[in-house]
Amino acid sequence: MPHHRATPAVALAGLVIAIAGCVTLARLELNHLRDGFETDARIIHRLLSQRTAQQDAVMAMLALLQPATQGAAAPPGPRISAVYPQILEVRQRDDNNPWPDAAMQAGEDESRRSHRAAIGGVDFASGRYQLVQAAAPASYAAQIDLRSMVPWEEWPMQPEASPVRVTLEYHGQHYVVQAGHDRVGQWQFDFRKRLAADSQPFDVVAVRSVGWTDLPWLKMLGWTLLTGAALAALHALERQRTERRRAEELLRLGQVARLNTLGELAAGVAHELNQPLTAILASTQAASRLLNDEPPDLATARDAMVRTVEQARRAAAVVGRMRRVVERPDVATRLQPVNLQEAVRNALYLLEPECARLGVRPAVMDGTVVVQADPVALEQIIHNLLANALQALAQVPARERALSIAMQPEGAHGVLTVCDSGTGIPADVLPRIFEPFFTTRSGGLGLGLSLCESLAADMNGTLTATNAAQRGALFRLSLPLAKTP
Ligand code: ADP
Repeated sequence: MPHHRATPAVALAGLVIAIAGCVTLARLELNHLRDGFETDARIIHRLLSQRTAQQDAVMAMLALLQPATQGAAAPPGPRISAVYPQILEVRQRDDNNPWPDAAMQAGEDESRRSHRAAIGGVDFASGRYQLVQAAAPASYAAQIDLRSMVPWEEWPMQPEASPVRVTLEYHGQHYVVQAGHDRVGQWQFDFRKRLAADSQPFDVVAVRSVGWTDLPWLKMLGWTLLTGAALAALHALERQRTERRRAEELLRLGQVARLNTLGELAAGVAHELNQPLTAILASTQAASRLLNDEPPDLATARDAMVRTVEQARRAAAVVGRMRRVVERPDVATRLQPVNLQEAVRNALYLLEPECARLGVRPAVMDGTVVVQADPVALEQIIHNLLANALQALAQVPARERALSIAMQPEGAHGVLTVCDSGTGIPADVLPRIFEPFFTTRSGGLGLGLSLCESLAADMNGTLTATNAAQRGALFRLSLPLAKTP
């Protein structure tokens, strides 16, 4: 029977499950954050692209709505700004009014070439840029305010609170649309995509840093606690099962013990026969005397004979009872190779709770010694020796308690020694401890050791007791080694 304690393995498995669960939860959360980030970034890109396309359309419309006479109509700036707040100002160039700077001229040249609006200078530091539309006779330039260009009412994030940093980038210039958190975290999500309108080739850049604090700690804690609770329940269940198995095992051993004990008892009961035999002797002597009388006292002699029969019946009953009682399992016929180490382990398993109660950690010497024995009888001997040792150890202070078990081959025998640091056996007691009914314990039966000795003898072995060199008792069980095949 393997009785290994699985606690460390179970704890390790629990740790692995808890960690794996937490890692999975963290992964799921990171994926969730990344999905949200990417969705938001795509929405931002689309919104800003729509705005730039819209500005392209406005510029194209301006080109179409040429003033009837040059310089006659008021420039359309103020009216346009009322509808498109991001367009701060509209300039108009004709042959009389050249552009104020070369960048706008370059923009016009580009616009003429590409037949669409073009950038005529970017100043992201002040959040502005010029959009130029070449046309004839007049060309137009709109100054665009980036802040007003952002459609905040449709914005997918809270601009003040969001941890996402959003910028527009153009040839090394940056315009911060949304500041976000600029701390550096453990993980970083990035998004970069050029605006859809070719006229305004700005890059939309979104960055989000995710740190340890963003992980779902509460869920992870919950999972860990859940794992712990499940394992604790499992452990309790397992412990309960172990306890039950131990109880069954003890019961089995107890039953065998009782059978054997009754065998021992038979020896003690023998004196019961003395009384009826003495009575029979007395009655028959009396009867024979009465029959010899002249005249013989037949009535009294008959009474004596009736009493004799009664007593003989009583004796027969005692003998019958004893015979039934003495029916001990025939140990000698069940001899087989048994590993002493294993028998010790099984016996110790049953005494584990008692050892724990007394704070005794039995030291079992390593080694494999295989003897020829009946496993049940052998286990019973060891169990008795260990139980006696523990009883002796209970008499001494806790820190002085030691119990060592060793096994080694000696010639043709395997020898098991059980040595305790208990009270030891007084010199006058030592010669008597194997006698049936000899005990120094108030609740003791005094049958344990005599049973062990006869079980050992049945297995062609011996059991002896001495006191250990320093202190305590030392029991030696010697059994023939198993024949190696
Ligand atoms: P019981 O345990 O019922 O007394 P046993 O036959 O097992 O009967 O033991 C007989 C006696 O031997 C015990 O009462 C005790 O005095 C003595 N004895 C047995 N084992 C030890 C031990 N390890 N140390 C000291 N005394 C022992």
